[in-house]
Amino acid sequence: MSGYNPYDNVLATLERAANILGYEPSDYEILKHPERSLKVAVPVRMDDGSVKVFDGYRVQHSTVRGPAKGGLRYHPDVNLMEVSALAAWMTFKCAVVGIPYGGGKGALAVDPSKLSKNELKNLTRSFTTMIAPIIGPETDIPAPDLGTNAEVMGWIVDTYSMLKGYPNPGVVTGKPIELGGSLGRGEATGRGITITAKNALKALGREIKGATVAVQGMGNVGSVSAKLIHAEGAKVVAVSDISTGIYNAGGLNIPEILTFVAGGKNLLKDYKGDVEFIDNAQLLTLDVDLLVPAAMENMINGDNARDIRAKLIVEGANGPTTVEADAILEGKGIPVIPDILANAGGVVVSYFEWVQNNQKFYWDEETVNQRLEALMNEAFQSVWGIAQEKKVTVRTGAYLIAVKKIVETLRMKGSI
Ligand code: NAD
Repeated sequence: MSGYNPYDNVLATLERAANILGYEPSDYEILKHPERSLKVAVPVRMDDGSVKVFDGYRVQHSTVRGPAKGGLRYHPDVNLMEVSALAAWMTFKCAVVGIPYGGGKGALAVDPSKLSKNELKNLTRSFTTMIAPIIGPETDIPAPDLGTNAEVMGWIVDTYSMLKGYPNPGVVTGKPIELGGSLGRGEATGRGITITAKNALKALGREIKGATVAVQGMGNVGSVSAKLIHAEGAKVVAVSDISTGIYNAGGLNIPEILTFVAGGKNLLKDYKGDVEFIDNAQLLTLDVDLLVPAAMENMINGDNARDIRAKLIVEGANGPTTVEADAILEGKGIPVIPDILANAGGVVVSYFEWVQNNQKFYWDEETVNQRLEALMNEAFQSVWGIAQEKKVTVRTGAYLIAVKKIVETLRMKGSI
């Protein structure tokens, strides 16, 4: 899969939706290009006194429907194309679920596990200072993603607030509760995936209770998805992280596994429960009712899509399925509930967090979860409905809704 460019994936999907909608190329040309891309070289003094410099990025794909919104990723292999693709997916995701944001994404090319906490904090402070000219509560609002968490968001709030000279909690979402975070945000992406999985299984004529499930990735998204899907009475037979997969045909002991991996403290390869060890490739091709890829992009691709036996895929990660794999899965009749719908719970509750920050009035967790569920249910019904009506894949259905909303906004503004 070398040479794979996820931005090509974005363009292909956009093109397909625009054609079905009958748009002229001039209607959506704007959406093919990220509005603004910033590359920075971020210095940090290491604990041994040396200075290292890491590449950092912040891309604002679109601010047509509102401020750019999207996570910050810390991973050694990130590059501008990947960040641009992730930013574009945020534009479409926010449009699908109807929240008033555009799309953005940022990244630092660093392996956070190789830095001490002090080094990571200082690196985050430098990075924040260097992207501060383009982020802000009214312009571009980062959040956690792969390799970052609430603590990192707390350092960003503090640095940005120092630069501005007054408290600025709304500059990021996914922050600690003490700094203005929202109740329910930590679990929101996994909760949204669970709601969507339930809706999709129901639309296919079956219940989540008793369904067999495999989840790839045991980070924020994968672990909460496994927890809540298990709590719905499904039989989670396999989960994995970067070190290994584990399998038990009778169902894994999810609460015990979650305690074992909580907060990234242990890798599954060291788990001692009643399980069979399998690799990630085997996990993806298990014969299950539901597969949730919740690790990284590009995991289901032209090399393995033909071997997929799951009856339904609900995308937890961003971009886990390549365009080539999508076509193969469509041919096999396996529905794929796309990332821009399935994992939108995180950005929905990020939006709720930002609203609470702006109002300076905080909601209880039940209110957050109820509003999330209502919004995810509505988004699923409209996407599923249009996919059925137009006889297209669920992914194309989601893009039809998103692209239409954005192009209509461009028209209203007189931009096209
Ligand atoms: P995380 O860093 O908390 O966890 C990632 C997990 O994936 C870890 O268990 C890691 O071991 C595993 N992993 C990494 N590389 C792997 C590989 N090559 N094979 C198998 N497993 C691998 O990240 P996260 O926040 O859970 O995000 C996971 C995905 O979900 C990303 O694509 C992210 O963009 C997307 N996402 C995250 C959120 C959020 O709220 N955190 C919201 C929407 C989408």
